[in-house]
Amino acid sequence: MSVAKKEPAPPARIELKKEDTVRVIAGKDRGKSGRVLRVDREHGRILVEHVGMVKRHTRPNPSRQIKGGIAEREGPIAISNVMIVCPGCNKATRIGHHVDQLPGGRTRRTRVCLKCRQTLDKK
Ligand SMILES: [Zn+2]
Repeated sequence: MSVAKKEPAPPARIELKKEDTVRVIAGKDRGKSGRVLRVDREHGRILVEHVGMVKRHTRPNPSRQIKGGIAEREGPIAISNVMIVCPGCNKATRIGHHVDQLPGGRTRRTRVCLKCRQTLDKK
């Protein structure tokens, strides 16, 4: 008998990108905010600077100049536990979309803050 492996269902759409600032809204780091270091779309998880710290126990390995001991580094947290922080109003917000018409009939979608309508994309 095989046991089905439990895979977390990825959210329908992941709107967060590297370098976004997010605030943690649930979990043990609730209230913290930080910069997004990595987005794992496949697993619906995210790495946020100084959030979800885990202790890594490392063995010394002199030939590779690795000191042993306990190092703290970021661990992945669920994307559903964070919200983007708008650079315009500085609040945790949901993400809306604005569609720009470009010359030649093309369109470009930008992410906007649903509270103050400021764009969340740098470009
Ligand atoms: Zn805003």
